[in-house]
Amino acid sequence: MTLLADSQHLDVDLAVIGAGLGGTGLAASLRQRGFDGTILLLEAGRGPGGRASTRRRRDDVIWRLDHGAPCFSFSQQPQGPLAELWNPLLDQGIVQPDLGLVVGLSETGCLVDPPEHPLLQGPRFRGVPTMASVPEAFVRAAGSKTQGAFGERISRLRRESGWWCFSGQRRARSLVVTGNLLAHPRSLAMLGWPDVPLRSAVPLTVDPLLDTALAQISDMDASVRWNLMLEFPRCTDHLPRQIWLTTDAQERFGIERMVLHRQHDQRLGLVVHGIDDGSPITPASQPGLLLEQESRQRKALTELLRPWPELAQALPLARSLGVMRWGASQPLDHPLPKSLQWCEPSSVGFCGDWIAGPGFGMAEGALQSAVDLAAQLV
Ligand SMILES: Cc1cc2nc3c(=O)[nH]c(=O)nc-3n(C[C@H](O)[C@H](O)[C@H](O)COP(=O)(O)OP(=O)(O)OC[C@H]3O[C@@H](n4cnc5c(N)ncnc54)[C@H](O)[C@@H]3O)c2cc1C
Repeated sequence: MTLLADSQHLDVDLAVIGAGLGGTGLAASLRQRGFDGTILLLEAGRGPGGRASTRRRRDDVIWRLDHGAPCFSFSQQPQGPLAELWNPLLDQGIVQPDLGLVVGLSETGCLVDPPEHPLLQGPRFRGVPTMASVPEAFVRAAGSKTQGAFGERISRLRRESGWWCFSGQRRARSLVVTGNLLAHPRSLAMLGWPDVPLRSAVPLTVDPLLDTALAQISDMDASVRWNLMLEFPRCTDHLPRQIWLTTDAQERFGIERMVLHRQHDQRLGLVVHGIDDGSPITPASQPGLLLEQESRQRKALTELLRPWPELAQALPLARSLGVMRWGASQPLDHPLPKSLQWCEPSSVGFCGDWIAGPGFGMAEGALQSAVDLAAQLV
């Protein structure tokens, strides 16, 4: 992939907003199918990954923390076109089966079996060395006719004379949106946007397919996770990879799970996946909510880490690396049907883990939607 030297003046065949698993998987899958057009990846984050990204630190070059998804969960071994995208990563050692121990923790702090959860039911894989290795590999596979513009959140879309237009003089014949913020009214409050950008770009009745898709998307609920990241000193205990709280424990502590990420020098990264309490999130309220989550979760850890004495003892020394807010639509009741993934009249498509199909809400769903859309586009 070429990083744009002149990213402000460009015409491409396809713009993809979002370089998570869905967006990068789509670009890689299109190339596998022989798509020869130009692709522009537009991503708000500093690099590829989205919710499967890895946190690095300027002050600590060896530090790597998988601070969103700790693994790629599938409902079954990848099959068909999904396997064609996934298996080369296994062959190249970019992913491997995740054999990390998963344990459960009850509301009284006892070790129990992990709760039943779709993320734990089928095969799981890990990126090597980190989760971000996978989207990075997809970007490489997307080739030199793919360009990326990172660190730029798109908040406005225009459609003119058959082109999708972005700020500056960048235009694309077709557009794929991977996260659904640009299509969902929740962005109005959360990001302080004046309108739903995709709705404003294509007025009602111009594209009946898109009208139906947008109506369905607006019915989707969103869930939020507040992930506290901590650095622990060297620790020699044998520790699980994931500690899942039982349903009762989740209710009591407001925490879904804790994920441990051992560093090369035996220090430990701990990511606490905190559950949202429903307080309205706006640009003004967010800083206070981040602080509240941090202090609430740190307090809960005193009790939650008791089964691991070395960790519990080291807790006062653990350094906070802040809280990351993750948002995800929860499409369980209203996933976007595959028939609405591509809206031909306005040349706009959707992919991501919120599209109907096996594995929605998890890595498998994002990748499956990418290969399905690639098949429609080529
Ligand atoms: C805390 C957490 C734990 C998880 N655990 C697991 C697990 O154990 N197993 C599993 O399989 N899955 C897990 N998941 C889910 C998994 O991470 C997702 O299913 C998958 O990463 C979704 O990929 P995606 O491409 O659909 O979306 P995303 O990764 O969200 O990618 C969308 C991208 O679009 C970008 N974007 C959105 N809007 C704009 C805009 N306007 N301008 C520019 N860029 C934009 C975003 O920055 C993002 O990078 C977890 C997710 C979270 C948050």
